Amino acid sequence: VLFTGLAACSAQEEKPKTSAEDVRLTAEDQVYVGFVLDTLKDERWYKDKELFEEAAESKGAHVKTLAANGNDDVQLKQAELLIEEGVDVLVVVPHDAAFSAAIVDMAHKAGVKVISYDRLITNSEVDYYISFDNVKVGELQASEVVKQASNGNFAYIGGAESDNNAVLFRQGAMNVLKPLIDKGSVKLIHDQYTDGWDPITAEQNMKTALAKNGNNVDAVIAANDGTAGGVINSLSSVGLAGRIPVSGQDAELEGVRRVVKGTQTMTVYKPITLLAEQAADMAVKVGSGEDVAADQSVHNGKIDVPSLLLEPVAVTKENVRDTVIKDGYLTEKDVYQ
Ligand code: BGC
Repeated sequence: VLFTGLAACSAQEEKPKTSAEDVRLTAEDQVYVGFVLDTLKDERWYKDKELFEEAAESKGAHVKTLAANGNDDVQLKQAELLIEEGVDVLVVVPHDAAFSAAIVDMAHKAGVKVISYDRLITNSEVDYYISFDNVKVGELQASEVVKQASNGNFAYIGGAESDNNAVLFRQGAMNVLKPLIDKGSVKLIHDQYTDGWDPITAEQNMKTALAKNGNNVDAVIAANDGTAGGVINSLSSVGLAGRIPVSGQDAELEGVRRVVKGTQTMTVYKPITLLAEQAADMAVKVGSGEDVAADQSVHNGKIDVPSLLLEPVAVTKENVRDTVIKDGYLTEKDVYQ
C-alpha cells in the first residue's frame, strides 16, 4: 500500500492522493514492495530486477526498485525513503552484510518486514533469507578446477569480503581444497578477496599473484564471472589463458562465451528466474501480513533466519546446452555467436 505522506506507518491511515498514479497505487489491497539493490554493475542484477518486478507485478503488487551503486549510506537512505513512502515489505540485496542490519532496525521500527535477497544481512533480526546454497557454489567451483588440475600452485581470487556470499563461496572452495592442501599436493600461493567485486581489482591482484610466483600458477578459483574476466586478462598477458583452469559464477554471457572458448573452465548457473519468482511470492505474502513457511534456517550471527536456499548448477563446455540454453537463460545464438 503506497502512502503519499512521509511519516505514514499504518496501513489503515488515509492520506491525500496527489495524482492519478497514486490513486491507482493506493488501492487498498495492493501490496507495495520496495526492492533495494546493492548495484546494477554485474549483468545478473539487471535480470534480478526485471524478473522480480515482473513476478511481483503479476501477483498484483506494485514494486519500486532502487540501486545504491555500492554505497552503504545511499542504500540506507533508499531504504528509508521507501519506508517513508509506505512500503509493505522491503526486499534487500545488501551491499555490506553487517552495515545493512541498520536497514532491518529501521524497517522494523516502522512495522515493515525485511527479506534478505541473495545475500544475507548478518547480525540482525532480518525476517527471511532467500538465496542459493552458496557454500555449494564454492564447492562446485573448486571441484571443477580440481578435475583439471589436482595439484600445484593454486590462487584464490574471491569476492567482496563485505558480502557474506563471498565468505561462503570461499568456505565452499576450501572444503574441497583443504584435504589437498593438507596432504601437500596443492599449495595455496595466493588467497585474496576482491574489493567491491571489481574485475579490474581482480586483474591487478592476479598480476601480483603471477609476479610473486614467477608465473608459476597452475589453477585459479575466481569467485564470479566478473573476477574471472579480470583473472583471465592477467593470464593472457603472460600466455597462460586457456592453459590453466579458472572458475567463475553467474553464467554471464561473457563468462559462458569464455567457457565455450576454453579460457574459463566453468561457471555456476544460479536460476535467477526461480529466485526472483520465489522471492516475489514471499514478498507479496509477507507484505499482505501472511506468514511464510520456510523449511530451512541460517544463523546470521544473531538469530536463525527462516530461509529458502535454491540449488546452483555447475556449467562446463559439456553441458552449456543442457543448462543455461535449455532454460532459456541465454540463447544458443548469443553463446556460440
Ligand atoms: C552474488 C553473485 C554476484 C556477486 C557480485 C554475490 O553476492 O551471489 O551472484 O556475482 O555478488 O555481484
